[in-house]
Amino acid sequence: MARIVVVGSVNADLVARVARHPRPGETVLGVDLAVLPGGKGANQAVAAARLGSDVALVGAVGDDAFAPVALSGLAAAGVDTTAVARVPGPTGIALVTVSDDGENAIVVVPGANGSVSPTTVGEHGPALAAAGVVVLQCELPRATVEAAARAARGRVLLNLAPAVALDPDVVRLADPLVVNEHEARGALEVLGAEHPSRPATGRTADDAAVASALVAAGVRSVVLTLGARGALVALQGRDGVEHVQAPRVTAVDTTGAGDAFVGALTHRLAAGDRLLDAVRFANRVGAFAATSVGAQPSYPSAGDTLPGTD
Ligand code: ATP
Repeated sequence: MARIVVVGSVNADLVARVARHPRPGETVLGVDLAVLPGGKGANQAVAAARLGSDVALVGAVGDDAFAPVALSGLAAAGVDTTAVARVPGPTGIALVTVSDDGENAIVVVPGANGSVSPTTVGEHGPALAAAGVVVLQCELPRATVEAAARAARGRVLLNLAPAVALDPDVVRLADPLVVNEHEARGALEVLGAEHPSRPATGRTADDAAVASALVAAGVRSVVLTLGARGALVALQGRDGVEHVQAPRVTAVDTTGAGDAFVGALTHRLAAGDRLLDAVRFANRVGAFAATSVGAQPSYPSAGDTLPGTD
């Protein structure tokens, strides 16, 4: 099994439950507060490692009291954190409020994540070049994500989340590009290939048109996640878009389901699966993660029974 190197964010999530979100200028009382490990990079690294992959993370935390919390999930999952720097100043923080109707509102303060630079990437160049899969998201500085994609010699999985304006040539290095419905439309704009018919979200046929347009714009392969509807797969050199259904589950909290999906997808790609087979598995892991509360605490281990069948 090839080594996975994730270059990404490490945060502490401060999660408060509220009856409803405050309006600007308003104060509401929260019910409870949880301090949990988070950050897309850390979440995806944990998801892949829990399933049995060999995973290293390149990133940074601060020197404050939140750093041990941010690192706790990585240590427990066995992720190699020797390339996670401790820098002066605050750890990345996500302030999350979750209302009774299940809606999230999130403010992310990058903190130490902002110190992960192209120079950092250069320092870890040999590790990136040797990785079977390099996994990237967009919570680090744009130039850092671009440098990491260019340093990879194996497969690059780019999760364009959030959909920032990366160099289009870097987006075209992705194999696959993983995006949700909103990010997929952002990716079209990043590639200068806005879809002429302004497709709606929530309609699988429109999503499939967006996935096709991304491949037509030069992306090698695209995985477009659709929440409970599963995911779409589009590949260069192959006509049509494949719809892979997610198993039906009773969703309790979908926070971090997207990161569970990416971690599981990476796990199977590093093991040599074809993209379509890896997406089938990732759907089952994403669905599993939606059935319990939180991000990292909801991710399955190798021995857990996943919903759906192979
Ligand atoms: P988030 O930002 O909430 O982590 P996302 O928007 O990046 O998620 P989604 O498309 O919502 O990503 O979900 C990712 C994957 O998780 C889906 O492709 C699917 O496999 C699984 N999933 C999410 N929600 C559900 C659900 N309600 N039922 C079954 N599977 C789900």
